[in-house]
Amino acid sequence: MNTTLYIVSTPIGNLGDITLRALEVLKSVDLVAAEDTRHSRKLFSRYEIKTPLVSYYSAKEEITGDKVLAELKSGKNVALISDAGTPGISDPGYYLIKKTIDEGGKVITIPGPSAIISALTLSGLPTDRFVFEGFLPPKGSARKKRLEAILDEKRTIILYESPRRAGRTLKELLQLLGDRKAALARELTKIHEEVVRGKISDIIKVVEEKGLKGEVTLILAGHDEKVVKSTDEADVVSTLQSILDKGLSVKDTAEIASRELNISKRAVYQEIIRMKDQRGKK
Ligand code: SAM
Repeated sequence: MNTTLYIVSTPIGNLGDITLRALEVLKSVDLVAAEDTRHSRKLFSRYEIKTPLVSYYSAKEEITGDKVLAELKSGKNVALISDAGTPGISDPGYYLIKKTIDEGGKVITIPGPSAIISALTLSGLPTDRFVFEGFLPPKGSARKKRLEAILDEKRTIILYESPRRAGRTLKELLQLLGDRKAALARELTKIHEEVVRGKISDIIKVVEEKGLKGEVTLILAGHDEKVVKSTDEADVVSTLQSILDKGLSVKDTAEIASRELNISKRAVYQEIIRMKDQRGKK
């Protein structure tokens, strides 16, 4: 293949956020493979891009990807774009990019916006090490497994979420991870851009009071062992004992104590087991 596949980032809201190189490439390639051709026409008309568009979408990523690959093989240079941000990031693109690389094709990036980096840098949370978890599975054991996998994550955690589910997800995260620092970045680069920062419980309050619309990215502080260790052990034991004395189940105790002490439920369970062991030895 003598042709090139260009991975082109496009705006995540504000149409002004497009690079000069992106515009040059979109105007000069033979074909633009777009996630939703109707959506991309808005960008094309704003910048007078006349390049033909073909559809490349996730539900049929393999079929449409193979068609685009055939175009590359036939001598056409192709630019890949998605509805917003960087293709392949929680958007279609991976299949075509991998196939092109596997077949010895040339792939070039035209970098630009992605909600991950914009949300992370605005969050006020550590940016030196982070993990991107994409969208959590909506329900069931797949969701539980993914949530458990981030339980002890020390790096800043970034999640994409729909506004419909964000409230529920935040409540689950509060129960599981304790009331740690977080940020909710909404409608970035658009008129209603907003970042809510605070503890997870503070963000839940804002969401419940004001409701939530638009595109949402959640950023969570990583698990901070220092916070757990700095909590006075005597405090932990007496708080746990007073909750257990009320006759609550271990599950309810873990939930309440993790919120009150700002430590993870796992840490509370471990402490309860340790207290029971000690009592057994007496
Ligand atoms: N490819 C895109 C990128 O590079 O960021 C992500 C596409 S994914 C289908 C869409 C999700 O990204 C949204 O549900 C939201 O979580 C996040 N997102 C996209 N635009 C955003 C914005 N303007 N503000 C906040 N989050 C955004």
